[in-house]
Amino acid sequence: METKVYRWNPAEENGKTVAAAAAVLRGGGLAAIPTETVYGLGADGLNGAAVRRIFEAKGRPQDNPLILHVPDGTWLDRCCAAVPPLARRLAEAFWPGPLTMILPRAACVPDETTAGLDTVGVRCPDHPITRAIIAAADTPIAAPSANTSGRPSCTTAADVLEDMDGKIEVVVDGGSCAVGVESTILDLTVSPPRLLRPGGLPLEALEAVCGAVAVDPAVTRLMRPGEQPKAPGMKYRHYAPKAPVTVVAGVPERSADYIRTRLSSGEGVICFEEFRSFFAGVPVQSLGPAADKNEQARRVFDALRAFDGMQVTAIWAQCPDTTGLGLAVANRLKKAAGFHVIDADGEEARP
Ligand code: AMP
Ligand code: MG
Repeated sequence: METKVYRWNPAEENGKTVAAAAAVLRGGGLAAIPTETVYGLGADGLNGAAVRRIFEAKGRPQDNPLILHVPDGTWLDRCCAAVPPLARRLAEAFWPGPLTMILPRAACVPDETTAGLDTVGVRCPDHPITRAIIAAADTPIAAPSANTSGRPSCTTAADVLEDMDGKIEVVVDGGSCAVGVESTILDLTVSPPRLLRPGGLPLEALEAVCGAVAVDPAVTRLMRPGEQPKAPGMKYRHYAPKAPVTVVAGVPERSADYIRTRLSSGEGVICFEEFRSFFAGVPVQSLGPAADKNEQARRVFDALRAFDGMQVTAIWAQCPDTTGLGLAVANRLKKAAGFHVIDADGEEARP
């Protein structure tokens, strides 16, 4: 199949692009769409056959449910059997934006979308062309990240084509994603609400609206045998570069020093911008400044992806503290490392 690329131009009227992408989706086809977090691989979320094509194109495990994307908060009632007042308050506060809410599913949502669960994830993405396409398609759009399963999420249309060229009808090129990590997932079917995946909306922002928020253990550690994360996707080792990754947490000076003194030839490093000079002659990807977590979120997948094109035998990664967006950045790095994490603060710093 030929994959068509439509370029969104914010300075122009994009009516034709919107109509063409919406027609593909209405007809049961696949369209990769830009969002503020990462690119999504969209299909009509109420059409089981269309949704099955997403799983085929990505090679995604069948038990991993999809998030429905809507153009505004009023569509919660189209997707969910019950919408508690807190869900409406959160939609008011954070949509459009990187928040996915888990709620009881409406009868029209097929098993293919929810992987047979009686709940459904819903979010309203903050990208004007994508909201316009969904509104024109007039159906909630199921859209997981547009990467092949097991690969890092895509933050540009070029990343999407690398994984999906020839497998899908359309890529809508809406530029680089501004946030860079996926949405925050909050389960509102339990009390207190539970954070299932840290993402582009910080936990602290949710707590300001919800009060207490429980954090699912899958966010910070590997599941033990017999344990199941509430968000099925959290059990998969997503975002993994080909070389094994070791994450080094702790004060940036200490983690950089820890890596510098243990690094062997042929290994690569993901570090904060300030510490590039520690690693002269070493393949390095910068996460951006140690204090700029927004930039780290934008860069984390590219940094991981970049090493796949290089001959490195192992990757060391500095890791931010877990406040604000740091919780999501640290989670993506730790998942790439299979939770192989060393705390440099707990180690004696070498000279
Ligand atoms: P992706 O769109 O690839 O970032 O993946 C979406 C993730 O949302 C899945 O991997 C699940 O972990 C999570 N998710 C979607 N629907 C539900 C649900 N009904 N209950 C719990 N988690 C969900
Ligand atoms: Mg994904």
